[in-house]
Amino acid sequence: MTRILVIGGGIAGAAAALALHKAGFDVAVHEAHPATGEDIGAFLTLAGNGMRALAQFDAAEPVAALGFPITTMNVVDQHGAELATTPLGEPDDPLTRYRCLRRAELGAALQAEVRRRGITIRHGARLTAVTETTADISAHFADGTTATGDLLVGADGLRSAVRAWLDPAAPAPAYAGQRVFYGYSTAAPPPPGPTGRITMVRGSATAFGYLLSPAGETYWFARVPGPPVTAEEAAATTPAQWRSRLHPLLHPDRTPTAQIVATTGDRLMVTNALHLEQGTRWRTDRAVLVGDAAHAASPATGQGASMALEDAVVLAKALRDTPDPAAALARYEHHRRPRTDRNTATSARLTAAPTAAAPTPSPAPRPPDSRPDEDLLHLLTWHTPLP
Ligand SMILES: Cc1cc2nc3c(=O)[nH]c(=O)nc-3n(C[C@H](O)[C@H](O)[C@H](O)COP(=O)(O)OP(=O)(O)OC[C@H]3O[C@@H](n4cnc5c(N)ncnc54)[C@H](O)[C@@H]3O)c2cc1C
Repeated sequence: MTRILVIGGGIAGAAAALALHKAGFDVAVHEAHPATGEDIGAFLTLAGNGMRALAQFDAAEPVAALGFPITTMNVVDQHGAELATTPLGEPDDPLTRYRCLRRAELGAALQAEVRRRGITIRHGARLTAVTETTADISAHFADGTTATGDLLVGADGLRSAVRAWLDPAAPAPAYAGQRVFYGYSTAAPPPPGPTGRITMVRGSATAFGYLLSPAGETYWFARVPGPPVTAEEAAATTPAQWRSRLHPLLHPDRTPTAQIVATTGDRLMVTNALHLEQGTRWRTDRAVLVGDAAHAASPATGQGASMALEDAVVLAKALRDTPDPAAALARYEHHRRPRTDRNTATSARLTAAPTAAAPTPSPAPRPPDSRPDEDLLHLLTWHTPLP
């Protein structure tokens, strides 16, 4: 049986392990972190296409038990005037409903599923080097151990060590031009309208999004153009100081955003929006990249996790349906690169013109690309052969 080493047990790595195991391969996951549950702060929206991908390897139900559904996206301007309302997900299939959930919860649920299916997951295994021969491929770890397999999947995220080995000339991830603020408020006045609605505000100085959880918490983010947060600034700035920097940017607008931020306590975080240049190398005969390691995009389209889940399905189908593994990895890249390039480019465009103040050809951000066309459906559906 083909032995596959998966490097990284985040969203892409756990999903790839589940899909490859379902396709009949002998899979083991090697994850750098000593335990599950890093990054407890951030939330994300998982789009309908991501939920559809999860269903292909029978993992949609545990994820649908987490977080809460989002059924509508409402776009307003800095005066609060409605620009657009878009239904999200596929109404006839509840499993493809968008969900809002904590990133760590999603990672933990996928890792639990990996363990439940008897797939080995080794924590504390930080990859430092890879050696590939015509016969096999070996992963070398910081603790001195080595694992050898027939194939290696690099699912080690934005700062991928597998990518650095595969393509030493690949540029480091670049700053996309925005700081991203995140927070949770239990004291904000509940937004008007139905629950399950995410409101995107094209404010005068930020792109702001907020939604109300069933427990009455307002989840929010703000994408703010400007210089990147430096490591020194991150270490020296308290949540209250970040709040006092963001609040004046929101205050001129006639929307609830300033009040949401003002009523947020210490559960406020800031990070840089980063993305990877397109065109970096994805594969050798025995190694391939998935998820952010291959195609990290700035977060504006909210598609990073969903793209990683789609990668898992297409990679497993390619290896299942192609007798020669190197040809299978080439088929995987052939099917995935145009779509992930499109997501990276769309996200970069939205990042470059995030606010009402910036001129854009259209008044509203394009809704995320989540309703699959026929070709994508065919590509993702587990029981149909890969075209
Ligand atoms: C601010 C922000 C907001 C976002 N919002 C959304 C959203 O709303 N919706 C959405 O779909 N996506 C969103 N994303 C993107 C999404 O979080 C990522 O696309 C997704 O987490 C990628 O998963 P991954 O498994 O490829 O990488 P990661 O989640 O980074 O996982 C990589 C794993 O590899 C491990 N690892 C790293 N190096 C090594 C090594 N050397 N050896 C072994 N293991 C290693 C890490 O510990 C980690 O567990 C957002 C991202 C950001 C930054």
